[in-house]
Amino acid sequence: MIEGIKTVNNFDFKNQIALMRVDFNVPIDKYYNITDDTRIQSTLPTIQKILSEKGKIILISHFGRPKGKPSKTYSLKFLIPFLSEKLKLTVDFCENCIGKNVEQKIHQLKNGKILLLENLRFYKEEEEGNENFAFELSKLGDIYVNDAFGVSHRSHTSISLLPKFFGKKKCIGLLMQKEIQFLNKFLSGKGKKPITVILGGAKISSKIEIIENIIDFADHILIGGGMSYPFIKMKGGKIGNSIVEKNQIIEETLNKILNKCQEKNKKLSFPKDVIIADSFKNTANTKISSIHSIPDRWMGLDIGPSSIKYFCNIIEKSNTILWNGPVGVFEFPNFSLGTRFIAKTIAKRTEKGAFSLVGGGDSIASLKMEGCNNKISYLSTGGGALLESLKNKILPGIKAII
Ligand code: AMP
Repeated sequence: MIEGIKTVNNFDFKNQIALMRVDFNVPIDKYYNITDDTRIQSTLPTIQKILSEKGKIILISHFGRPKGKPSKTYSLKFLIPFLSEKLKLTVDFCENCIGKNVEQKIHQLKNGKILLLENLRFYKEEEEGNENFAFELSKLGDIYVNDAFGVSHRSHTSISLLPKFFGKKKCIGLLMQKEIQFLNKFLSGKGKKPITVILGGAKISSKIEIIENIIDFADHILIGGGMSYPFIKMKGGKIGNSIVEKNQIIEETLNKILNKCQEKNKKLSFPKDVIIADSFKNTANTKISSIHSIPDRWMGLDIGPSSIKYFCNIIEKSNTILWNGPVGVFEFPNFSLGTRFIAKTIAKRTEKGAFSLVGGGDSIASLKMEGCNNKISYLSTGGGALLESLKNKILPGIKAII
């Protein structure tokens, strides 16, 4: 764990009001049915712990991007029936986050009960990092609890400023604790070898620093998807129209990483062959090409059969595995094969005793596609927060609790 950080287990919540920051920014369909309730389910142990001690809970969360204004579309009201059913008690709701109305409702709240407040992002101050807004929120509870791993990399008011108004009465919840423990386990570099990291996706800028941080202890670093093309281009390959995030900093960092790899005698592994397409759509014409010689106007949208074999062979021999990001445009069924093979192989290897940590919405979605999400050692509820932690950065939400 992180030294000096308290968890809900360090407090007795009897007669106390817990102001609990959660990440209920869950995906929904057009009828407001929750299509993936993982983030809510994961916070239930913390909620139940506080309720079982007869504490009161004020839940605060954001949802979507309402841009600092109240909006029916982004109201959190739709969560009331879901939460009430899961917790088997009536969850109360307040349309404000600060002010007399909410204070009155809290006054009436009985021990062992929950009040859910409206979307924090209806106040522009939430994303601005605003001391006054933090102070107003702080009046609502006795103990601040952060169980919102998915948003703890953001310097938003309820994450990074609010805790400081609680003195020593602040802590992390059980979900945060779990996330930190699994991340620390991986980042210690003491996992059973071989240690393999698979990085994919398109936004290389959000992941490049991770490579620098894991290079010392990872045995295999497999780079796939949109992440691979800037490297191949830099090495002089022909990548046609394949995706390349352009940015001077990236080029410098790529160079630095390639040099560091050489210095440490480490190898980054790239796909050998890729499925290329003549347009960015599921029904595009396709063929298999070497990643180094993609014809003009064609783009690589998935890893090819030899690369699947090459990557999966490495995964099958690994004992510690971290995966973030699809190795192709897996949203198009015709370009999802590589990602689905990676998902299945990690799950199979985990069943045989490997430790696996997977994060990021897309990677988890592909595990679900294959029905093997329950076979992974730990699925992180954070995308950006996981990436930031893997860069060895202490998240603002954690810093604020220490
Ligand atoms: P990220 O947010 O960086 O993890 O990127 C995820 C996105 O990367 C997904 O929506 C994928 O469709 C996309 N992606 C993966 N491989 C490729 C590729 N070869 N070309 C374009 N987009 C890709």
